[in-house]
Amino acid sequence: MYDGRGFHLIIAIDGPAGSGKSTVARMLARRMGFRYLDTGAMYRALTWKAMQKGVNLNDENALCQLMDKTSIEFHQKDGNLHVFVDSVNVTEEIRLPAVTNNVHYISNAPGIRHRMVELQRKLAGEGNTVAEGRDMGTVVFPHAERKFFLDAEIEVRARRRYGEFKPSDHGLSYANVIQDMEIRDRRDTTRNNSPLTKSNDAIYIDTTDLTIEEVLNLILKEIRFIVKT
Ligand code: C5P
Repeated sequence: MYDGRGFHLIIAIDGPAGSGKSTVARMLARRMGFRYLDTGAMYRALTWKAMQKGVNLNDENALCQLMDKTSIEFHQKDGNLHVFVDSVNVTEEIRLPAVTNNVHYISNAPGIRHRMVELQRKLAGEGNTVAEGRDMGTVVFPHAERKFFLDAEIEVRARRRYGEFKPSDHGLSYANVIQDMEIRDRRDTTRNNSPLTKSNDAIYIDTTDLTIEEVLNLILKEIRFIVKT
C-alpha cells in the first residue's frame, strides 16, 4: 500500500484544530495542482454515520463492521471538496458540534484507524497529494516528500474556529469553543493509537502571529526545490 515512497509526491501537514492546516492544505493543493486529502473529514464522516445508525460508539467491533460497509468519497464541486458517505453529501453535517464531540470514539479505535490508513494510502496512490490530519507524517506517510507541523496558541486557534463555524448558531460561546478544543487536544495528543505528535523530520511552523498567506509562503519556500509552483 502507498505510504509516500515512490512515484507520487506527498506533502504531509499535521497539527491541532485551528492551527490553519486545513485552509493552508487546501490552498497549497490548489496552487500546485495536487489532490487534497482531508483525513479529519474521513473520521468525521464515519462518526456521522455511526450516530445516524445509532451504533454504540464504544463498541469497536460494531464500528468496524459499519466501516466495512460504508463508502467515504471526496468529490470536487464548485471548486470545493465535498464529502460523501454512501453517496450522501455530508460536507456540512460532519462539522456539527455533535459530530466534533463524538469523533474521538472513532479516531481512538485501532481497528478503525487501520482501515482509515489503508483508505488514505489508497487515495494518495492516485496522484500527487497534500494530506492533512494528525498522523500524516508519523504513521500514514512516513516517506512523504515534505512534512509540516502547524501549531498556534490555543486562544488564537479557538478564536479562528469561533469565527469560522459560527458556533453561536449552535448556542456555543467562545468559552465553550476553547474548552471543547482543550478536551479534543488532550484526547488527540494522549491517545494510545497514533497520537498527534510532530514527526522528527517535520518542519514546525507556529502560525499564532501569521496570516494564512504567510504560512502558505513559508511552505512554498520549503518545497520549491521539489515542485515548480
Ligand atoms: O481535522 P479535524 O478537526 O476535522 O479532525 C477531527 C478529528 O478526527 C480529530 O480531533 C482527531 O480525533 C481525528 N483525526 C485523527 N487522525 C487524523 C485526522 C483526524 O485522529 N489523521
